[in-house]
Amino acid sequence: FPRFAVLAVALLAAACGAPAAGQQPASGDGALVGVTMPTTKSERWISDGENIKRDLESRGHRVDLRYAENDVANQVKQIEDQIAKGAKLLIIASVDGSALTKPLDTAANAEIPVIAYDRLLRNSPNVDFYATFENFRVGIYQAESLLTGLGLRNPDGSPGAATGPFNIELFAGSADDNNSAFFFNGAMSVLRPYLDNGKLVVRSGQTDFQAVTTLRWDGETARKRMEEILGTTYRRAKVNGVLSPYDGISLGILTALKNSGYGPAFPTVTGQDAELGSVKSILAGEQYSTIYKDTRELAKVTALMAEAVLKGRTPPQLNNLNDYDNGVKVVPAFLLNPVSVDKANYHKVLVESGYYTDDQLR
Ligand code: BGC
Repeated sequence: FPRFAVLAVALLAAACGAPAAGQQPASGDGALVGVTMPTTKSERWISDGENIKRDLESRGHRVDLRYAENDVANQVKQIEDQIAKGAKLLIIASVDGSALTKPLDTAANAEIPVIAYDRLLRNSPNVDFYATFENFRVGIYQAESLLTGLGLRNPDGSPGAATGPFNIELFAGSADDNNSAFFFNGAMSVLRPYLDNGKLVVRSGQTDFQAVTTLRWDGETARKRMEEILGTTYRRAKVNGVLSPYDGISLGILTALKNSGYGPAFPTVTGQDAELGSVKSILAGEQYSTIYKDTRELAKVTALMAEAVLKGRTPPQLNNLNDYDNGVKVVPAFLLNPVSVDKANYHKVLVESGYYTDDQLR
């Protein structure tokens, strides 16, 4: 993966005439870039915001960085403010991907280009580019690690020694985030055959995407839903695994499991984002896995895209021109690779890459 990322960034740099690593940063024209992020309640968005700001500033741009704290009206206002302040480009990681059509219209009228960051902006023609990760693949990796944790699959992908049947429950992200269905559908593409042949059983019967979504990715909401399921469906049986789409949700699920008497051995619980609390939980033998998305690379790619767009160039070569139909148009996208992480590879992936130090994980 690091090789892919380095190559991707280098190609992108070449494509938009920006400096490659090690060269002098371009001196931007000081253009103001408006960056809006969904929340400071999750570490990843704090890093995303800081990384984009740093990368753009090192290219000579000014950055107005805002966090909407998961409030849609707040985000609309922040974007309108940035437009009023004279932003020349907007980079938006939305709270609700469909709720920004009005400020996007305002941006288009002022000829301000828009890059959707990590989450697709839906139902608007006024979205120029999209930078994200391979979202369907995130779901595949989550499901594969669930199978590995249960013993139905070996880490190399071959069938595991366990035969099941195992009881699992399913959680998805926020329904208003376009990524949620990609993660869930990716996961279900792997789990479906096991559900069909009875090696996996969802005892609650809650298998439809809409039935398992978690509004605003909230850990407390997930804890409550898990406790409800445990209280009604698992009075006599045990749950063996939980598909969780995001670390904050995983920790909520683990709290529910503890409150219901599980531990010290826990069901296999997946995650996403390699947030500190979850990596520590993995090392403590509680959460089973997470998906690492190097937000430093996403920020770099986005800054390079921004540079090209600001110079009025057709931006970077994009590696996905098909998948991200926002309901009105297909938004050209650049996708980075996620990496599945568990106890076996955390050191190589997270520490040796410099994402965390050993000290942080103690
Ligand atoms: C991101 C995930 C993140 C989730 C919750 C999604 O849009 O792609 O990385 O876990 O939002 O913040």
